[in-house]
Amino acid sequence: MAISGEGKVAIVTGASAGIGQAIAVGLARVGFSLAVGARRKERLDDVSKEIERISGARPYAAALDVTDTTSVERFISGVLDHYGKVNVLVNNAGKALGLDHIDASANEDDWQEMLDTNVMGLLRMTKRLVPYLIESGDGHIINIGSTAGHEAYAGGGVYCGTKFAVRAITGALRQELLGKPVRVSSIDPGMVETEFSIVRFHGDEDRAAKVYEGLRPLRAEDVADCVVFAATRPFHVNIDEMILKSIDQADSRRVARHGQPS
Ligand code: NAP
Repeated sequence: MAISGEGKVAIVTGASAGIGQAIAVGLARVGFSLAVGARRKERLDDVSKEIERISGARPYAAALDVTDTTSVERFISGVLDHYGKVNVLVNNAGKALGLDHIDASANEDDWQEMLDTNVMGLLRMTKRLVPYLIESGDGHIINIGSTAGHEAYAGGGVYCGTKFAVRAITGALRQELLGKPVRVSSIDPGMVETEFSIVRFHGDEDRAAKVYEGLRPLRAEDVADCVVFAATRPFHVNIDEMILKSIDQADSRRVARHGQPS
């Protein structure tokens, strides 16, 4: 039986677009009070309006750069001033940059930004919020991993490395928080059509569109459904890990385009 989010506060990082936006909207629909963060404040304002229209309650929305400790601390203290507590942390902010092989021509700035966002960003948020999640008596950390955290592919060495790290961190947190009132989940999607590939290819929209050509990728809302499912189980049920892929994706190398395996 699903448990309502009424009276509970959920933070979603990277909520200005894609999966994070859909998660924030999905959690608001089932009654959670939302705190949304991302770097593009104007996009967050649009998401806030959408949430207010759906739930009747305006979320707490503030600029957040998970790579910047000052920004993380300012965001968290803003949420605590506003709501006084946090029950759910959805660590969603993340990205892939490029498809460089690990060789002399690779762009180290891209590597650094992926590591700093996907791994250190998640850790920066989590370490500061763990005490409040415990204090809530009903806490939940939901990390957005990836199938890239289960299987590496050529050109994805560092992105996959960050998502393998997210999986390891999730597993460690599950053990560290055992016996405390905090659930720990990882939701791990395959290909989802969002701005992800546009970001990966540094704004090249044509190249990004080719990634999804002829297949039916997951939608951001499909991932949000899984997060909402995990967040609305009775408290004694911990969804450890969910892996979801489009029907047209068997693994990171094999997809069916127009029904033809390639
Ligand atoms: P997206 O459409 O590009 O959205 C990424 C979100 O992360 C945006 O809201 C962006 O907002 C935010 N973000 C990026 N850098 C940030 C930073 N330094 N601080 C705070 N927020 C930041 O991509 P998406 O597909 O929704 O990706 C969301 C998560 O799902 C990522 O962790 C990604 O690795 C994971 N994932 C995606 C796929 C896929 O195929 N799309 C598959 C598996 C897993 P701002 O730019 O406004 O900061």
